[in-house]
Amino acid sequence: MSFKVLIANRGEIALRALRACRELGIKTVGVYSEGDRDLKHLRFVDESVCIGPPSPIESYLNIPSILSAAELTEVDAIYPGYGFLAENHEFAEQCNKSGFKFIGPSSETIKTMGDKITAKNFVEKFNIPTVPGYSKDLPDDESKLKKIVNEIGYPIILKATAGGGGRGMRVVTNENELLDSLRITKQEALNAFGNDKVYIEKFIQKPRHIEVQIVGDGKGNAIHLGTRDCSLQRRHQKIIEEAPALDLDLDSLNILLDACVNLCKKINYEGAGTLEFLYENKEFYFIEMNTRIQVEHPVTEMITGFDIVKAQIKIALGINYDLDQKLITFKGHSIECRINAEDPETFEPCPGQITRMHTAGGFGIRYDSHIYGGYNVSPFYDSLLAKIITQANSRKTAIKRMLSALDEFYVEGIKTNHSLHEKILIDEIFIENKHTINYLEKEFLKKK
Ligand code: ADP
Repeated sequence: MSFKVLIANRGEIALRALRACRELGIKTVGVYSEGDRDLKHLRFVDESVCIGPPSPIESYLNIPSILSAAELTEVDAIYPGYGFLAENHEFAEQCNKSGFKFIGPSSETIKTMGDKITAKNFVEKFNIPTVPGYSKDLPDDESKLKKIVNEIGYPIILKATAGGGGRGMRVVTNENELLDSLRITKQEALNAFGNDKVYIEKFIQKPRHIEVQIVGDGKGNAIHLGTRDCSLQRRHQKIIEEAPALDLDLDSLNILLDACVNLCKKINYEGAGTLEFLYENKEFYFIEMNTRIQVEHPVTEMITGFDIVKAQIKIALGINYDLDQKLITFKGHSIECRINAEDPETFEPCPGQITRMHTAGGFGIRYDSHIYGGYNVSPFYDSLLAKIITQANSRKTAIKRMLSALDEFYVEGIKTNHSLHEKILIDEIFIENKHTINYLEKEFLKKK
């Protein structure tokens, strides 16, 4: 049977999906905005359709326009990637209703996990530990609110239930800040997400960010592909990711992995998903579940040899697929550096034309990127240019291999965070794997 898939995304993840489809012998349709005619994957797709002006709202977030493209090209399924509409339950539902299989979980699952409080209350039922806090509606009465927070204990973090992308959060260290902070967080949440609902969590002071990759077949079977450590972050945005996460308490980890797989089996989870946790003092605390492919999925693929994107597509299309935990093995260590078009000092985005460049390559090195010499980096979209991924028998060798890959990788014409990566990779705390999620901002960047 032959299939055709529409790739509802751009950049490196569109290219990644294209590669998976080609290997599976699946025909592809690329969609692009008027500012994106030069995207690399469009040279290799079978068909392509312009879906609107450069502004994401009018193109990659424009559901009617994407569905029209799907109708025009008569595709079987739609691959959402990450960002844009990947976690939009209405999009998933409309795809399915229009007769195009949404490659991912059901719209109901996306909806449950998309609301942070609902997700938290939901996973608790499956014995997944969450951050202590208060996830009911907050009382209007100030003294009642203060009492609730005092019971949790300062510092706390106020989080918008509809928040995402590291936005909609505010730390409160004492009672004097509480009311003002709540007012500001609610206002910001309303402006950014159209929903001012906020909940409270204990602020975990020095955690690591650990996540569990799972894959489910939608029929009650699911497996995990181990852990990733994404603690190297700035403003809650991941910069370097690794697999597996090291130095974890193995008893707690095994219980957690079982609980994650059990949850996915029980809810007939379909496709790839990630459960994210904070980890401190041997305890895991669930923070959210992403019901899509993650940017950092290659590190897991590198240590397992399991092609997650191909699995997503095969499961969605009902192509013969057997998920068996016993077949999953883990080899060595993998690291990913996200190369962004941004100033390495100020972190300001730096769009513009790439005049010349060299890629990185060699044994144990993977390079996922859509850029090329002459490519114009658009100011309209995410600043991610390339993901350089290394794999080696040990973490130390994976780091050395990354330094060599970064040395080869070179971009002229625009600024990138290349030099920041080079500095992090020779930093003692990073090499010793002693960093927490605050390390980059609170310590490393202040050292200079
Ligand atoms: P988003 O959906 O915006 O990515 P998350 O809930 O996943 O939001 O949180 C993103 C990041 O915010 C985490 O990786 C962590 O750095 C920080 N964070 C979230 N909740 C807490 C908490 N309770 N204590 C400390 N840090 C937190």
